[in-house]
Amino acid sequence: MTGHLSRRDVMRGAVLLGVGTATGGLSLAGAAPALAVESPTIASCATWGARNPSSPLNVISSSPDKILIHHTASANVSDTSLSYAYSFARTVQGWHMDGNGWADSGQHFTISRGGHVMEGRHNSLSRLRAGSGMVVGAHCPGQNDKAIGIENEGTYTSATPPAVLYNKLVQFCAYICEQYNIAPTRIYGHRDYVATACPGDVLYAKLPQLRSDVAAALGGTTPPAFSVVVDNITAGRFTASANWLTSSYSAERYGADYRYANPQAISDAAYYKANIPAEGNYRIEAWYPGIAGYNTATPYVVLAKGGNQTVIVDQSTGGGAWKTLGTFTLTAGDKDVVGVSRWSSATGYVIADAVRITRV
Ligand SMILES: [Zn+2]
Repeated sequence: MTGHLSRRDVMRGAVLLGVGTATGGLSLAGAAPALAVESPTIASCATWGARNPSSPLNVISSSPDKILIHHTASANVSDTSLSYAYSFARTVQGWHMDGNGWADSGQHFTISRGGHVMEGRHNSLSRLRAGSGMVVGAHCPGQNDKAIGIENEGTYTSATPPAVLYNKLVQFCAYICEQYNIAPTRIYGHRDYVATACPGDVLYAKLPQLRSDVAAALGGTTPPAFSVVVDNITAGRFTASANWLTSSYSAERYGADYRYANPQAISDAAYYKANIPAEGNYRIEAWYPGIAGYNTATPYVVLAKGGNQTVIVDQSTGGGAWKTLGTFTLTAGDKDVVGVSRWSSATGYVIADAVRITRV
């Protein structure tokens, strides 16, 4: 480490990253707005006290292409409390593990009649947050590696789901659609794929309404036609010199691991490549594990149409989630789109984990 660098030096670093001219830094605070759909609170398996899976679960890199709606076919209880919801999640897990002999809860998520959203099968929540990959479920034969399964507590053969449950289902489906880039038209009922009464005649009849309510929650627009995640292990899409070491130290990492390097005033950036389909505006987000001691002023450089644009990110906090760098005009082509520079004004490792590029 060579000591503190001036902001001007950081900008010079951007120039050294590649072709084009640095157009100055952008502050993260002034960047594009956050995602349109706010996630509901989702209780993780650890939060509601899940048992560990009885055998290893299969987490796959491909993402789901639809949502499947279920009902639990259990009593329509009146207890809307959080503590009851957690106990219900434990009960369902018991049915699936002890009754069915499955490794874990079969469904990815559960919503109680009180409107509490909970993770079902372990790893479902981390993959949803990441917006790519999924744990193979056990909720619908033939669809377990393609569909996110949501169990709605209750029996809806003749009863109507409580409004608090339905409204949460709308918000949650919208969040899933946004994270995985699934069109709201791709919300189905269990009976669409298997001979079953699930999710009950009444809830099944509400699915057209659910699709349109989810579309409205997404702002009336269909998800963007192009969205790609480039991880540091994505084959052929990420390049970094051997000075960038590999770590899996932080649980907030995206995927198996991430790369890190000491800050230094040299041109030695890690690059993310993407095949941009057409010139247009793209939202660019970064994922990194945020740990106290990591670099507080990491330069991300976007190779935008008008020239390189640098966004300074504090990687010591706010990790384990997508952080918006801004919306940029990109030209078409298969090329490096984002670089992480070592030319930082601050101390601590600079991190290169994953980026997401979405047409807006
Ligand atoms: Zn079902």
